[in-house]
Amino acid sequence: MSIVRWTSLFFAIAAVFAQTPDTATAHKAAATALLNSNNTGAARLACPATISPEPVANPPGGGPARGAGVAGAGRGGRGGGTPPKEIWYAEGGQVFDNLYMLTTKMNSAWAVKTSAGIILIDTLFGYAAQDEIVDGMKKVGLDPADIKYIVVSHAHGDHDGAVKFLQDTYHPQVILGPKDWELAARQATPYTHDMEASDGQKLTLGDTTITIYITPGHTGGTLSFVVPVTDHGVPHVAMEWGGTALGANTSKEMLRSYISNAARMKDIADGSRADVIIGNHTEYNDALARLEQTKARKPGEPNPWVVGKGEVSKYLTVVGECAKAWLAVGEGRP
Ligand SMILES: [Zn+2]
Repeated sequence: MSIVRWTSLFFAIAAVFAQTPDTATAHKAAATALLNSNNTGAARLACPATISPEPVANPPGGGPARGAGVAGAGRGGRGGGTPPKEIWYAEGGQVFDNLYMLTTKMNSAWAVKTSAGIILIDTLFGYAAQDEIVDGMKKVGLDPADIKYIVVSHAHGDHDGAVKFLQDTYHPQVILGPKDWELAARQATPYTHDMEASDGQKLTLGDTTITIYITPGHTGGTLSFVVPVTDHGVPHVAMEWGGTALGANTSKEMLRSYISNAARMKDIADGSRADVIIGNHTEYNDALARLEQTKARKPGEPNPWVVGKGEVSKYLTVVGECAKAWLAVGEGRP
């Protein structure tokens, strides 16, 4: 065989292996190729910001290390005083017949209205409880005294910061993943340990059943949700991926868990015919703009939250590829 033919054979073999390279660059590229307004913010929080050409033990500052503070995200808001309202206040609103977005500029909680009361998914920072949860619910015609369950996606302060106040005031049952109850117990003034979620748990209140999945990765007990909704009576299904952000400190074990659970949730969402994405950070799917579009919606116009099954699947592929990128970049991580 001539040198030329050996060379072309070499490149042919190289090309075969190049089809599915397990590199950070390739996984981030796979995520980037799918980005649109339904998932760009999620990728921003889940993917490494920059990827070195060669994996390095200690990524230089400003790149992947950007996520270093993610694990403790939100802690500052729990006991650290209240930031000025103009920094965080946003007006919530109704997005489906039975689903209400209670939101700051940064984080969203969701009130699921049922025939027997309200299931509240997440609670925002403690400082936002009065304005966004209590008054926010009243503004959309809901009574916070009707909250029967609070389901917490994960025990970081931007999602569970108001649990204690709401628990003490309205006495709902609080549900967390078992591992996140351990996190919650370490808080300065922990809320009362109620119910531990189980994987695939059907939580029924009145005429509505939401399904809870334990999807560790962002935290050890992160919960994700499938929520039935209706839009002017037409049924749809919402999916929330309950923990998104990853960082240079996320362990390999947690990254592997995140990857397998994102793939599993993709199958679950697909099987549930989920066609709506909701999240707990507004950035993930441009939720504030989407809420404004919803408020401006005229009769007969489509609901901006209904994105279709393919987009739900894409969202979970994007965050999964981001986690694969972190795993590939992460020599030397814990
Ligand atoms: Zn978090």
